[in-house]
Amino acid sequence: MSENTISTSRPRVLSGMRPTGKLHLGNYMGALANWVKLQDQYECYFFIADWHALTTDYADTSQIVPNIKDVLLDYLAAGLDPEKSVLFLQSKVLQHAELTLLLGMITPLGWLERVPSYKEQQENLSSKDLSSIGFLGYPLMQAADILIYQPQFVPVGHDQAAHVELTREVARRFNNFYKLGGEEVLPEPQVLLTPSPKLPGTDGRKMSKSYGNTISMTDPEPVVRQKLKTMVTDPARVRRTDPGDPDKCPVGDLHKVFSASEMLVNVYEGCRTAGIGCIQCKGWAADALVQVLAPIQERRASYTEAQVAEILEDGSSRARARAELTMVEVRAAMQIGPQETDKN
Ligand code: SF4
Repeated sequence: MSENTISTSRPRVLSGMRPTGKLHLGNYMGALANWVKLQDQYECYFFIADWHALTTDYADTSQIVPNIKDVLLDYLAAGLDPEKSVLFLQSKVLQHAELTLLLGMITPLGWLERVPSYKEQQENLSSKDLSSIGFLGYPLMQAADILIYQPQFVPVGHDQAAHVELTREVARRFNNFYKLGGEEVLPEPQVLLTPSPKLPGTDGRKMSKSYGNTISMTDPEPVVRQKLKTMVTDPARVRRTDPGDPDKCPVGDLHKVFSASEMLVNVYEGCRTAGIGCIQCKGWAADALVQVLAPIQERRASYTEAQVAEILEDGSSRARARAELTMVEVRAAMQIGPQETDKN
């Protein structure tokens, strides 16, 4: 598709992920599976936020490039289709940096300091010095990432809905100061709440790379089965003869997300009557996971390195064209260069 063929008939959505390496089932169920569904209804922009990787991992950048490739492959493996969605890399669209800088001029420091994750992450990642301007400013860069595509919606789960609020506030402030021909330039995007089922990791906590409890989208079958074997269960089920409760068991949570309803009946019945053992139950859960992962892994293997590079180039070029449309309006509204006439 050329840079100029940008569909405008459907509402636009935008979302992205940091290149943290291979994605896991929590990323898949919490975001990617929903993004895949959105592709037919919306004009979708999905990006890899490589500049955001620097906000916490600025000292060692050696993994960013390989991680970008892995994340893009996982996007494609999940079913994102470059013919339907614009898949792009943040750093290939320099307009994000320009808008971040301009929005930084109008955003009060206090708005960023009060973002809950600012203090939380500084405490959680105490081994890193996160007292940088980049880390404080990452929600602002996020706002620029979103607003530069003038999307109607940002698909997020419940836990991230608050993040979009800052973006809306920044847009409101910009629109109060600057207008173009009396019109607002940066529409306030709405949250598009997407279902994100509870997906525990192998230790029972939320599946997260930082806890080391993930099942990756790329894990081969024996690894999935091994990880399931070590997964924690209902603590009340100490002996094989003790009845348990799938509602208090992380393995039960996996069944609820991935198993068919007939299987769920067997799990509830077998667990509550001690009719099945946890090993058997975990085997069933592993069967369900392997079934979900097989087509994903097959799709991943079908892409060559050259195709991946081309998809990212093409998507980034389309994203640049769209971002520049916004920047032309932003610069004109702010009466700041480079103006169109400066380029001649
Ligand atoms: S039988 Fe299944 S649901 Fe019940 S405690 Fe064991 S692993 Fe969990």
